[in-house]
Amino acid sequence: MTDAPPLTRSPSAVPASAAMFDRACAVTPGGVNSPVRAFRAVGGTPRFMRSGQGAYLSDVDGNTYVDLVCSWGPMLLGHAHPQVIEAVVNAAAQGTSFGTPSEPEVVLAEEIVARTPVEQVRLVSSGTEATMSAIRLARGVTGRELIVKFAGCYHGHVDSLLAQAGSGLATSGVPGTPGVPVASTATTLVLPYNDRAALEQVFAERGDEIACVITEAAAGNMGAVAPLPGFNGFLAALTRRHGALLISDEVMTGFRVSRYGWWGLDGRLEGWAPDLMTFGKVMGGGFPAAAFGGRADLMAHLAPDGAVYQAGTLSGNPIATTAGLTTLRLATDEVYASVDAAAEHIRSLTTSALTQAGVPHVAQSCGSMFSVFFVSDPDTTRITDFAGAQAQEQHRFRAFFHAMLERGVYLPPSAFESWFVSAAHDEGAIDRIAEALPYAARAAAEAQPTY
Ligand SMILES: *Cc1c(COP(=O)(O)O)cnc(C)c1O
Repeated sequence: MTDAPPLTRSPSAVPASAAMFDRACAVTPGGVNSPVRAFRAVGGTPRFMRSGQGAYLSDVDGNTYVDLVCSWGPMLLGHAHPQVIEAVVNAAAQGTSFGTPSEPEVVLAEEIVARTPVEQVRLVSSGTEATMSAIRLARGVTGRELIVKFAGCYHGHVDSLLAQAGSGLATSGVPGTPGVPVASTATTLVLPYNDRAALEQVFAERGDEIACVITEAAAGNMGAVAPLPGFNGFLAALTRRHGALLISDEVMTGFRVSRYGWWGLDGRLEGWAPDLMTFGKVMGGGFPAAAFGGRADLMAHLAPDGAVYQAGTLSGNPIATTAGLTTLRLATDEVYASVDAAAEHIRSLTTSALTQAGVPHVAQSCGSMFSVFFVSDPDTTRITDFAGAQAQEQHRFRAFFHAMLERGVYLPPSAFESWFVSAAHDEGAIDRIAEALPYAARAAAEAQPTY
C-alpha cells in the first residue's frame, strides 16, 4: 500500500486554478474542452490538474484528491502506471505517427478480438467516431435508415445520436440540439431504457425500416443504470427477428467491468453476441484510441473491402495503441477483482453515511461502475431509466460534491455520471473517502434548493 499524499490546507481556496480558468475562458468557450469539466452543474471553480499518480490527482494549487473520475473511465490501472509510461516513452522514441500500418495496431486488435465476441475491429481515435462509424456501417449493410436509441444513453456527440443523450446534455439542460439538422434526428427513434413493450411496439410498426438498435451495454451516462436481467439478450433476439443489427456500445464498460466488458457479465454467460460493438476509454489507456468491431461478414462492408467509407489520419496511432495494449495486458483477473472490491467498498461506505444522515438516495452499480441518486421520493429503491434518473434533488448532490472536494475527494461534477475507481484505489485512498463521507452526507442532508 502506498501512503496517501498529504491532504493540503484548504482545497476551496484555489487561486491558481481560478487564474488559469480566467485565462482559459478568454480563449476557449466556457474555459473547457468538454462541457462537464466546467462545473456548471455543481458551481465553483474547476480544478486544473497538474499531475496524477495512482489513485490521486494534484491540482495547480498543490491540493491532492482521491480521484473517483479516473478520466471518465480509462485509468483502470490508476494514473501514470510505471509500465504504461515506460511503454509509451519507448514507443514515442520510435516515432509518433506514420500514416501506414504498424505492428502495435495489429496486436491491439488481436487482444480485443481475443477478449470479446467481435471477429474484426477497425481502430479509430474517439468513442464518438466509433459509434458514428458503427451506425454508418449498420445502415450501409441493411440498406435501412432508422436507428433506435434509448433516452439517457450517451454515445458521443454524433448528430443523429444527440437526442435525449444523458449526462452532459442532461445536466446543462440543453433543450434540444441546435446545430443538428432536423433531418439528422428525424431517423432516430428514442425509447425509454429497459422498456421491452415500447421496443416490441416500434418494431411491430416499423421493424423493416430499422437499421439498428444502439444501446449502452450498461448505461453509465445517466448515472449507473444496469439493464434489467435479460434486457440485452432480448434486444439481440428482437433485432435479429427483424433483420436489424444490435450495436452494443461498450466505450465505457468495455475492459472495465470485466476482462470481457459488460458482455462478459451477460451475453457470454447467456450465449448470444451483439452484431457490432464499440470500444474506447480503457482500451486507449489514457490516449485517444477507440474501436468498432463485429462479425467479419459485417465488417467486410467497410472500405477498402466494401463500399462503406470510413478512415482516419491518426487511426491506430502507435503511441495510443501501445498505451492501450499495455493497459489491457496488465488488466489481469487480480486487477478486476481489486477494482470490483474497491468499488463495492466505496459504494457501501457512501450508502451507510447517507443513510446515517437521513438522506434519501439510491446507490446502484453496473459492475464496478456505480453512482448515487439523491432521489426526491424516499420510497424509490431502484432507477431503471432516464425519467427515474432525472427525479433527483440536484441541490443535495451539489452540497455533497463540494463537501467531498473540500476534504480531498474528486467526484464527477454532475449527478448524472458514474463514479470510477482503479486498481490503485487502496486502503489509504478508501480511508480518505471514509473520513470525508460523514461531512458530505451531513451537507447533503442540510442542503436547500436554490431557485
Ligand atoms: C464516453 C462515451 C462515448 C464517447 O466517447 P468519446 O471518446 O468521448 O468520443 C460513447 N459512448 C459511451 C457509452 C461513452 O461512455
